[in-house]
Amino acid sequence: KLTIGVLGLQGAIEEHVKHIHDLGLQSLIVKKPEQLKDVNGLILPGGESTTMRKLIDRYGFFEPLKEFSNKGIPIFGTCAGMVLIAKEIIDSNTSHLNLMDISVKRNAFGRQVDSFVTALDVRGLNDPFNAIFIRAPYIESAGKNVEILATYDGKIVAAKQDHILVSSFHPELTDDNRFLELFVEMVKEPKVEMVN
Ligand code: GLN
Repeated sequence: KLTIGVLGLQGAIEEHVKHIHDLGLQSLIVKKPEQLKDVNGLILPGGESTTMRKLIDRYGFFEPLKEFSNKGIPIFGTCAGMVLIAKEIIDSNTSHLNLMDISVKRNAFGRQVDSFVTALDVRGLNDPFNAIFIRAPYIESAGKNVEILATYDGKIVAAKQDHILVSSFHPELTDDNRFLELFVEMVKEPKVEMVN
């Protein structure tokens, strides 16, 4: 049975676990780097990226997460998880895991609209997805190998590059499993041997 891990350091963890179970898959809340070998895909949840980064360093996850990604095992980052994955963070001189060729802006939709819900057209889904944004980042620019899956107000809010999927919004806070299914399809795809 496929096992989807959720990085269990901080943030919206249980909500992802529920979605994983709703799709009939096994979940594992990953609290130690050794557990990464037991999952077929990993979710980096939403929460607070600065805090999550501190915990990644404290619990020795930084190199293991880089190695996990180098093996081409699928990773899905929601919101703060997307910030952790980005190559560049606007107005910051450091990035975190640097796994995907995207430049993200944090808390990017302004104060008046701290949180909002919108029906979003997502590439790969037949009907709009009710996307919940909470102090969400957006992707300001993306490299040519990045596939854009959704935009809101002209900003990229969901994208994919090779084995990595990201969303600005929180699919796990709705009862609609379709976005997670997009990730599960990536997990089920036969592994392609990575060149270089
Ligand atoms: N603004 C948060 C950050 O940059 C993300 C918010 C969220 O995950 N809902 O870490």
